[in-house]
Amino acid sequence: MRVVGIVQGVGFRPHVYRLAKSLGLKGYVKNLGGAEVEIWIEGDGAALEDFIRALREKTPKASEIEEMVIFPEEPRGYSDFTIEKSEAEKSRLSMIPPDFGVCSDCLREVLNPNSRWYRYPFHSCAWCGPRFTVVYRPPYDRGNTSWKDFPLCPECLKEYVDPSNLRRFHIQGISCPRCGPRLRLVDGRGEEVEGDPISTAAKLVDEQFIVAVKGVGGFHLAALATEDDVVAKLRARKRRKRKPLAVMALDIKTAEKIVEVSERAREVLESPARPIVILPRREEGYVSKLVAPNLKTLGVMLAYTPLHYLLLLETRDKFLVMTSGNESGEPIIRDNSEALSRLGHVADFFLIHDREIVNRVDDSVVRFTDGDLTIIRRARGYAPRWLNLPREVKRSGIATGAMLMNTAAVAAETYIIPTQHIGDVENLETLDFTREALEFLVDAYKLNLKEALVASDKHPGYPTRAFALELAEKWCADYLEVQHHVAHIAAGMLEHKLEESVGIAIDGVGYGDDGQVWGGEVIHLSSGSGYRRVGHLEYFPLPGGDRAAEYPARILLGALVETLGPEEGFRSFVEKGYHTFLPGGFSEAMAALSQTSKAPLASSTGRFLDAVAAALGVAHERSYEGEPAITLEEFSWGGELVPLPIEVEGGVVLVKEFLAELASGAYASFHPKDVARSAQQLLGRALATVAREEGARRVVVSGGAAVNSYIVKGIREVLGRDAVLLPRKLPPGDGGLSAGQLYYAFLEKLL
Ligand SMILES: [Zn+2]
Ligand SMILES: [Zn+2]
Repeated sequence: MRVVGIVQGVGFRPHVYRLAKSLGLKGYVKNLGGAEVEIWIEGDGAALEDFIRALREKTPKASEIEEMVIFPEEPRGYSDFTIEKSEAEKSRLSMIPPDFGVCSDCLREVLNPNSRWYRYPFHSCAWCGPRFTVVYRPPYDRGNTSWKDFPLCPECLKEYVDPSNLRRFHIQGISCPRCGPRLRLVDGRGEEVEGDPISTAAKLVDEQFIVAVKGVGGFHLAALATEDDVVAKLRARKRRKRKPLAVMALDIKTAEKIVEVSERAREVLESPARPIVILPRREEGYVSKLVAPNLKTLGVMLAYTPLHYLLLLETRDKFLVMTSGNESGEPIIRDNSEALSRLGHVADFFLIHDREIVNRVDDSVVRFTDGDLTIIRRARGYAPRWLNLPREVKRSGIATGAMLMNTAAVAAETYIIPTQHIGDVENLETLDFTREALEFLVDAYKLNLKEALVASDKHPGYPTRAFALELAEKWCADYLEVQHHVAHIAAGMLEHKLEESVGIAIDGVGYGDDGQVWGGEVIHLSSGSGYRRVGHLEYFPLPGGDRAAEYPARILLGALVETLGPEEGFRSFVEKGYHTFLPGGFSEAMAALSQTSKAPLASSTGRFLDAVAAALGVAHERSYEGEPAITLEEFSWGGELVPLPIEVEGGVVLVKEFLAELASGAYASFHPKDVARSAQQLLGRALATVAREEGARRVVVSGGAAVNSYIVKGIREVLGRDAVLLPRKLPPGDGGLSAGQLYYAFLEKLL
């Protein structure tokens, strides 16, 4: 038998071993180089059937069987059942497991004074612990992981070879205080601080110091979340103005004190992936407002390693700010020396260890969109899981994504495998990270790059496009550009296994086929016959281009000028005081006025939401991606639906005049909350109407704004809940684009 899925490094072979033994069957089990598992099983026919049934029905906690192929063979007369040495040979690919949060059994042992793992920060077992972040290459054997530096002590070795040891038999990541990694606490010069590293670090955090903590996929910055001064200090040092910071809580009980945890949210918080979950903040939660300024939500995760748990347990609050250890806009830092040199101005102390982080991975971020779980940042715990294709690809595929919140991806055999979240690819560091993450997948899955296909976004200014061209040239590969929103729709179609669909892309910015800024698109895509843009938001000008995204009052000026004419429009703008929302005040408004006639045009949902946020006085400046839109959505909580004129005409959703009217105070009789909610929900209804007019029965909804509950609600009202297909495994935002680019190539038979 050949078994494919998450079957290496999760206690699968020991499980097979015990099962075979219990049924009196003979043969062997071994890992293969592609990371699948081969089982030779022989014996009594009924026992063989029991074996196969049991294997299908019950697998170890962290494992996942995706495919099981049985080849009938003549018995060879084995006298026993054994676990054999791994082989480099490969027939099929198998998934490299993601990292798993600490399990309850390991945690119990770490907290038990009589256990030999008492207070051991690196305890893990078959069901939990790092995987992707420690593996150099498959197969998943200790020698191929960064555990290779820690030979097992006699006691661990005894358990490693003991088939009756459910959680440790043949588990590569086991260790103990005698043989495992060492924890150290050092100051900014790298000098060791005396005392127990964890207790001392906890004390220092309580004394308002910032401590960098080496975790699973990189460094975190740990700081008190309850003190304004501390959070302000962290923000200043990290040069992070308002972008929310994540909070790590000791356990679910602690999390419930700071955010509202629904039953669904609890499941996600406690799942092996342990992502950051964005949840409504409790007013009485004592968390400093500076952790997530202007927001009613908070991103919370639970301690996911024994180290985190022990550290939080000894702090005053039992929850801390735990934000990625990096410089603004750069990848998360993974090496001790790099941390000391690059985080020296941010952190006061460093809690480090000597196990190498092979693959850097940020924390994943998820939220609920109109009740459904959506992934915003797909990283630890989810990457590098793959997505299935309906048939095998003809050649290898590589996609470099777009720019913001980026991932890259590869296609091989019947899979599309996206990299972990990389970040905004705007500098050399993130481009190098892209390269590194892609190389890992190319090596791990032994991709043949000859005659490969390389895909990228169309935007002429994106560094990832230049990178894709460079790769195509290096490998003499074919090169394909995929329009941004077509890739968004294709990503949704991949997940829902569709070869034809009408899709709604609600998004920030993407380079359109006509060179304009697209982002509110209804697109009909069908395998083999390309795509057609069947509708979109009415174009509105972005005076000053990118600056209009930063200061959305400029968009209001554009809409006013185009609707009322330059003089009347400008007068209305200034009368309402919108010029005070621009850093340059009146003179900047004058400059923006002169830019309006030659401004780039946008059909962007993100920019529309930004403009509504500015008009309602909810947000005037974007300090991080999506800020005005997120603030607007939360501002709408509790708002009622009121009639607003967001109509459809010939596939175009009319928004320009609405924005102008909104800006000049036409809806001042309604409560601003009601207007905010209605603008989003009615926009959703209008886009869905365009899709329905195209005859669509089921509609893929994707793009960065597809996490907006009100827009999605509006779409669902028109098309019906079951007809609306949201991304679940991939982020709806730009993190899903690389996979979409490859699926588009697949649909066009280029892969
Ligand atoms: Zn465990
Ligand atoms: Zn040991």
